Parts: sequence; C-alpha cells; structure tokens
Amino acid sequence: MAINKKTMQAKKKTAVKATKSTPVKKAVAKKVTQPAKQKQVEEEMLLQALRGMRDILPDEQPYWERARRVLTHAATEYGFSRIDLPTVEFAHLYLRSIGDGTDIIDKEMYLFNTRGGDKVALRPEMTAGLCRAYIEHGMGVLPKPIKLFSTGPVFRYDRPQEGRYREHYQANFDMFGESDAILDAQTVQLAFRVVQQLGLKNIEFQVNSIGTPETRKDYEKALVRYLESQKQKLCLKCRERLLANPMRILDCKEDKCIQLTAHAPQSLDYLDPDSREHFKKFLEYLDELELPYSINTRLVRGLDYYTRTVFEIRSTDKDGKNYSLGGGGRYDRLIEGLGGESTPAIGFALGLDRIVLEMKRTQVKPYHPPQPKVFLAQLGEMAKKKSLRLFSDLEKNGVLLAESFGRGSLKSQLRVANRLGVEITIIIGQKEALDETAIIKDMISGTQETVTQEKLVESVKKLLKANQVLTIKDGPRENRFSAADQEDED
Ligand code: AMP
Repeated sequence: MAINKKTMQAKKKTAVKATKSTPVKKAVAKKVTQPAKQKQVEEEMLLQALRGMRDILPDEQPYWERARRVLTHAATEYGFSRIDLPTVEFAHLYLRSIGDGTDIIDKEMYLFNTRGGDKVALRPEMTAGLCRAYIEHGMGVLPKPIKLFSTGPVFRYDRPQEGRYREHYQANFDMFGESDAILDAQTVQLAFRVVQQLGLKNIEFQVNSIGTPETRKDYEKALVRYLESQKQKLCLKCRERLLANPMRILDCKEDKCIQLTAHAPQSLDYLDPDSREHFKKFLEYLDELELPYSINTRLVRGLDYYTRTVFEIRSTDKDGKNYSLGGGGRYDRLIEGLGGESTPAIGFALGLDRIVLEMKRTQVKPYHPPQPKVFLAQLGEMAKKKSLRLFSDLEKNGVLLAESFGRGSLKSQLRVANRLGVEITIIIGQKEALDETAIIKDMISGTQETVTQEKLVESVKKLLKANQVLTIKDGPRENRFSAADQEDED
C-alpha cells in the first residue's frame, strides 16, 4: 500500500486511551490489598504529530530527493564543504546573534532548561550555530574564503499555515573571510543556479543594502521620526515594533503599513561611502552576470546581525501572491560579536519545504530513482535460502535487482516482475537449488537459458549489456513476456 497523505490522514485523528498508574499510586496499591482502590488515571494519548510539525511521507520524498541532489551538487561545484551542526545550542548564542526585538527571539524560539540546568534552544536558524562552530574549531586559520554548506531542520514557534511550519528544513551556504562585493554576487549566482537547476520559474531576486550598524543607527532614527509622525496609521503590531525593532515595520504585510512605508526614508540614502561603493560594485557584478534582480529598498531582513548586502529569493503564483523561498546577506560583524576575530561573512538559507511546494505548484518533475532491470524469483525453501546469497552477490556487483521473497507462488512473483517491467528474471526452483544452477529468462525475447550459480553474475551482466546495445540500435523494445507465459510457469 502506498503510504500517502490520505491514508495517514485517516489515522491522524486516532486517539488512543491509555491507562497509567503513577508510581505513588502503585506504592499505595501494594499496601492496600483491595484492587478496587487502585485508582487509575486515564490519559488520552493523541497519535498525531505536533501542530506545525509533520511527517514527510514516502510519496513526497522524490521531490525532496531532487532538491537534496541539486543542493549537494551545487555545493560541490562551488567548492563548499559540508558541515552538520547540533539542533540544540545554548540559548544565549541566539539571543546574542539574532537580537532582542526580533520575532524569532521574542516569540518563536523553543526554549527549555535541560535536566542539568542549562538554558538551551532548538535552533531557529543555522547561521549562529555555524559561527559558533567556526570560532570553536579555529577555522579562521584555514585558507579564505571558507565555504560551508549545511542542511537540516530548524524550529520556530510561529502560527502554522501552508508553507509555514514550526519545524521546517533549510539548506545554508556560507562563505567566511572575504568582504569583496564579488562574493556577494557569487552568492546570488549560486542561489540562482540552485533554483534554476530545480526547474523553478518566475523567480525574482530582491536586493538591498542596510549598511553598517553605525550608519543604521542614523537610518533608524530617521525612520522612527517619519513613522512616529504617522503612528496612528500603523497596525497594532507595528506600533509595538516602533519601540522594539522599527526596521521590521518595513516587512509588515498589512496594506496600511505597506502604503505608509512606501514613502519612508530608505536605508540606501544613509549608507557610508564604503558601503555605498560596495553596493554599487555588487550591482555591477549582478549586471555582468545578467541575473534577474530588482532593488527592494524595504528589504531589511529580520535579524540583527546583517550588514550591507541583504537579498531574498521570491516566487510569485498566478494570483500574484509572493513567497520567500530563501534569503540571506552579509554578516561581517557576527563572528567578532560572538568573541571571534573580525571575519567578514556572507550566506543564505533556502527554505526546503517552500522549495518543494513550489516544485509541486509549478509541476517540476520529481526525482525518479533508477528502476531494477532484474528480478530474482525462487520456489521452495532451499531455493529461498540460496536466493538470499545470490541477491547479495548480484547487488554487490552493481546489478540493480528486485525480489519478492515473501511470496511463495512463482506466478505471483512473475506478476511482480512483469509489473516492474524488468528485462531479466532469474528463477531458482527446487531443481536449480540442488544443481547449483539458475534459469535466466530474457523477459523481452522470452528466451531462457540455464547457467551455473557461479556464472550467474557474469551471465546477467552480459545479457543486460547486450539488451542495452539492442535498445540503442533498435530503439526501446517492448516487454513481450506475456501473461500467457506466466501461466505456463505455474
Ligand atoms: P529566514 O531566515 O526567516 O529568511 O528563512 C529562510 C527561508 O526559510 C525562508 O525564505 C523560507 O523559505 C523558509 N522559512 C522560514 N520560516 C519558515 C517556516 N516557519 N516554515 C517553512 N519555511 C520557512
């Protein structure tokens, strides 16, 4: 049975009543011998994933597999080394890097104390952990730029909806040690390459520069001055943001805030000369690459650690709805801010759940694993035992094969072989098991031969090769092994 969303949905609502005695109650029960007095606590155990968290079922995996393959391929092509980071870190790492007043820190972190009393958090993003690892392992001595690729789940306690989950998956590409704007352009180039290889269309890159923390102060002052004067027109959330993190108001999706901020001061007007030059160079490189981008002066990204370049990868659906598939930027001060040596850095994160949604929405083909060309059928206990070893011999020699060891009748096994459309079926019956031979049946021509088990691998490989030559010469051949042939075998 295919395990898909529908079958699982039926199970989702299943609630199992479990009874449980607490240890204290058990102890009491030992003293008081009347079983009726053993009060049992009824608990309801819900057999469903937590809100905002989900299983990614086998049906959906071919899309994820395509995404994973494209990502790892791009990482290799661009010289990134893979790094895997813990899912849990000390909470103060995030507090120090992402910053107070951000949604992630104020509302979305999964925070808890360990049994040992450490205050920890499930990672709400990967950059902070990456910088911690960079400092902890003294990566600063390595030749620059140091390019790291990481992927895995991140956790945000947000309001779930389609494309927004409390556990979602990200892939991060980060480069450390170079401040030249060419790396900013190369980062966008890489992100573009990935979405292009994934077959995604209607993708737009939005770029901006938010300058340094020093110039940002002047900019923030000007922004607050402007917004204060129109405070009554802001949504309630943005009125709070005005005090805590005014730049986030530029991100608000409420119409009235969008209209108001359209005329707000822009970070580009407050850049220091070096940041302005950096941004100009960055745009020149993008023009040179002929990448599809636009400048979005409202793009600030939600995290405190960004400096200078910020960018986002967005897709638009047929109704004009806009989604962020990924985003990133420079964080030249973060390593130093966490206690390491001053190290410029740039990176971006792609949201894999959104990428997969986009692949499905735009009907991108999922990954198709190679199909087996050989089927191994067996009849009788002795043949079954031999088949287990022969399966391993063939698999070790690179023959992709299928079997149906759980089925007893040859007819039903051959039906499976036919359904899979294999080119060759190997049959081992009682006689073959005793003789140490095997029947090789060419499912295309219907011919068959008997070979020794010792020569089985060699013979199968030879036949597969001959079939391949014929396919190239004559075009695809039909599987002419008919249902009637199967009846004969029974
Ligand atoms: P961010 O660091 O917030 O820009 O996240 C990077 C990317 O992760 C976004 O562009 C989204 O594609 C994805 N993402 C962020 N939050 C969520 C979420 N709650 N659920 C699913 N994907 C998300």
